Amino acid sequence: MKKIKKIAITGGKGGTGKSTFAILLAKEFLKQGAKVILCDCDVECPNDYLLLNRRLKSKEKFFNLNNVKQVFAEFPKLIKSKCKKCGLCIKACYNNAIFQIPQKYPVFINDLCSGCGACQYACPNNAIEFEKKEIGKIYLDKISDLWLITGVANPGLEESVPIVKEAKKFALNFVNKINHLNKDDIYVLFDTAAGTHCPVVNALLDVDFAYAVTEPTAVGAYDLDLILSLCEKIKIPVKVVLNKADLGSKSNIIKTLETHSAKIEKEILYSEKLAKKYSEGRLFDINIHYQNE
Ligand code: SF4
Ligand code: SF4
Repeated sequence: MKKIKKIAITGGKGGTGKSTFAILLAKEFLKQGAKVILCDCDVECPNDYLLLNRRLKSKEKFFNLNNVKQVFAEFPKLIKSKCKKCGLCIKACYNNAIFQIPQKYPVFINDLCSGCGACQYACPNNAIEFEKKEIGKIYLDKISDLWLITGVANPGLEESVPIVKEAKKFALNFVNKINHLNKDDIYVLFDTAAGTHCPVVNALLDVDFAYAVTEPTAVGAYDLDLILSLCEKIKIPVKVVLNKADLGSKSNIIKTLETHSAKIEKEILYSEKLAKKYSEGRLFDINIHYQNE
C-alpha cells in the first residue's frame, strides 16, 4: 500500500457546493487509479447519495457485510416503583431533557438528551436506569468504483455526534476490506455538515487536511472565517476551494484569506452543465477543469 489519506470537505456556509466538490474530488482520485471511500458525515441531511442518483437500501451485502448498520445510544428510563417525584434529576439536567408536572413522575425527552448520565447520578433513589435505543443508521453502497458510506440520524435527534463518529469509524474500518492487495493509494473523504458545530468538529478531527469550500459572497467570507478559525484551533491544514468563482466579488474572500495566511487552491466556475447534472443526480458523469490549476 502506498498511502492512506483522510481528507475532510467542509465549509462554514451551507449551499456552497461542498458535496458537489466532494464527489468531483472522489472522481479525480479514482481516475488516478486510487481507491476511494466517500463518507457523508452530514448525518442530519445527507445528500451525496442523491447527487449520485442512489437510494438508501438495506438489502445488499459487500464482503459478506450487511450494507446497513444500526447506531445505538443509551437513554435514561424511569423505574416508577423507586421514584419519589423529588425533581432532583431535573435540576441536574443541563439539556432541559426532563419534564415534570408537580406531583407527577418526571418524563424524559430523548430527542434533547445527550446521555450524559447526570440525572442518574443525581437521583437519590436509584430510580433511573439506562436503555439502548436506535438513533440512526450507517449505509454502505458502491457506485462504479466508489465506495459510499452514509450516516443518517433518526429524524428529530438533537445529538447527532455519535452517528458522525460511527460513520467515520465504519469508513476507517472499511479501509481494511478494500486494502487486500496492499498496493493502491486509498483516499477516505469525509463530507461534513455546514457550520462549525460539534458534528462538524467531530467530522474534522484526525483528518490529514481539509478542503473548505466557499463562494464569493459576503456571507461566504464570514463563514469561511469561522471554519478557518476552527481548523486553526484543532490544527487541521486547510485548502480553500472557491465555487462559482466568476459570480459575485472575491474581495471579501481575499481579505478573509489574508487574515488566516490561506490561499485559494482551486476555483470552480459557474457551469450550467454542472448545475444540470447536480439537479439530475448525475454528478459522477461530469468532468471538471479547475480554473487556477
Ligand atoms: S442523561 Fe443527561 S441529558 Fe439525558 S436526561 Fe439525564 S441529565 Fe439530561
Ligand atoms: S431524582 Fe429520582 S426520585 Fe427524584 S424525581 Fe428524579 S427519578 Fe424520581
